[in-house]
Amino acid sequence: AFISLDGLDGTGKSTQCRLLVEWLTAQRVPVTACTDPGGTPLGQELRKLLLFGRDHTISTTTEAMLFMASRAQLVDEIIRPALDGGQVVVSDRFLLANVVYQGHAGGLNAADLWTVGRFVTGGLEPDLTLVFDLPPDVAVSRRNRAADRMEDRGEDYVTRVRTGFNYEAGMRPDRHRIIDATPDADAVQKVVRREVGRLLTE
Ligand code: C5P
Repeated sequence: AFISLDGLDGTGKSTQCRLLVEWLTAQRVPVTACTDPGGTPLGQELRKLLLFGRDHTISTTTEAMLFMASRAQLVDEIIRPALDGGQVVVSDRFLLANVVYQGHAGGLNAADLWTVGRFVTGGLEPDLTLVFDLPPDVAVSRRNRAADRMEDRGEDYVTRVRTGFNYEAGMRPDRHRIIDATPDADAVQKVVRREVGRLLTE
């Protein structure tokens, strides 16, 4: 099974990924965890370029394609082999983030991004995507690390990101669950485990 976790920055997505992987491992479920962008040596280089490359201009289209390139490598090098080997894959973000950040919020055509994404992933899509949701002002105030290049974008952008996630999740309700990230991490993790448990016992 292929599971991705996504949503606004500040929702605790990465913590939820870590707790989910710990739980699956404790249940002796073979699991491979990865991050998108990143996840491979090339992906790490692209991630650095995307997040911290302040000495060059990156247009939104270029940005989208760098995320896509990172993901192409991640699918070929890590995700497909893991799935073929019977592992459960848990990815911190996936194609949906590209559609929402560079599409809904960034102004690129969302349908085009899905099309490029299908090419890049060879049609592989998560069986389940958990989308962590928070009001934009709460998400912005919860961001805990120094702002990367992406996080210089203002609250309007964050609002468009949130609306985009909700829209896309609503279009494919069979594969997406919106999870309220307002409660504490343990309470949110209970919901995550319930959803993943349901998927894995189906
Ligand atoms: O969640 P993660 O730490 O991977 O996100 C890194 C940064 O990249 C965040 O600021 C996020 O908003 C941004 N991002 C983006 N477009 C994507 C994926 C992530 O702008 N497609």
